[in-house]
Amino acid sequence: MKALTYHGPGRRTWGDVPDPVVRDPEDAVVRVDAVTICGTDLHILKGDVPEVGQGRILGHEAVGTVTGTGPGVRTVTAGDRVLVSCISACGRCSYCRAASYGQCTGGGGWILGHLIDGCQAEYVRTPFADTSLYRLPEGVADEDALLLADILPTSYEVGVRNGRVGPGDTVAIVGAGPIGLAAILTARLHSPSRIIAVDLARTRLAAAERFGASTALTPAEATPEAVRELSRDGLGVDVAIEAVGVPETFELCTRLVRPGGRVANVGVHGRPAVLHLEDLWIRNVTITTGLVDTDSTPLLLDLLAAGRLDVAGLVTHRFGLDRMPEAYDVFADAADTGALKVALFRT
Ligand SMILES: [Zn+2]
Ligand SMILES: [Zn+2]
Repeated sequence: MKALTYHGPGRRTWGDVPDPVVRDPEDAVVRVDAVTICGTDLHILKGDVPEVGQGRILGHEAVGTVTGTGPGVRTVTAGDRVLVSCISACGRCSYCRAASYGQCTGGGGWILGHLIDGCQAEYVRTPFADTSLYRLPEGVADEDALLLADILPTSYEVGVRNGRVGPGDTVAIVGAGPIGLAAILTARLHSPSRIIAVDLARTRLAAAERFGASTALTPAEATPEAVRELSRDGLGVDVAIEAVGVPETFELCTRLVRPGGRVANVGVHGRPAVLHLEDLWIRNVTITTGLVDTDSTPLLLDLLAAGRLDVAGLVTHRFGLDRMPEAYDVFADAADTGALKVALFRT
């Protein structure tokens, strides 16, 4: 089969590799019908994720059809349409028993396209199929479901839920890329009164407004004073969601939040950020971090099936699977191409 493999920093290949097979009784093999590329894949290609070995097939976000299962798999069977989530769950360890699948110590967690071969390929082997795959409800399109493999649960759990967004809150979302836009969508599930989006790119600010931001500001415009004026009582935002992963955006979030407010960091950081505890301690600010658990995936799938989660517009570019290298180029050059999520479909 064809797959996208990693060969050290800056080197990726789209080429022939052996088809995956069931190795463990709990495995399934899934034919990939739709797959996407993640900012994390670009981090891997920069060499930021050294545990990814030579020849590893990348990708951890897909939708597909089960073609085979091991004898220990009970709840999915050949022919089932499934979501292949970024997080796998052994279902047995203490973290999985507490629905913290992202922290699984039994061989799950973020393994696809990281510690084992991923789904930017024609087929993928998925361990712990019963507790890691999600059967798709009738009527949910592959392209929409694909967004639930990572960005929707990540923005919802690590941004909205960790930040405890509530009715009437003022929420700042710093970063209006795919994760930031997904945070706008999922924050709206909790009825905030105002959503202030911050990004450098005017095109992304326009997208933020289309997704439901009440105000869209550049970082130069998003001074603490300006944002306080936009907030309830003029005291700052209740929740600031960091959706970029650079020190400047994290530090901006800590300046925008009101006393008693929450900073929910979603961005993946490659450098240290300054934590101004000398200013923050007296203001009762809560800061949260996290890797997605994907325990919200069934809820999000149900909302999608019920037509209560409108993800239209997040996928900006579509390709046949065999155009993987071109899709990578378009996604990596988002500033020029305007790409949010790219989707590749089986041809
Ligand atoms: Zn991802
Ligand atoms: Zn586990």
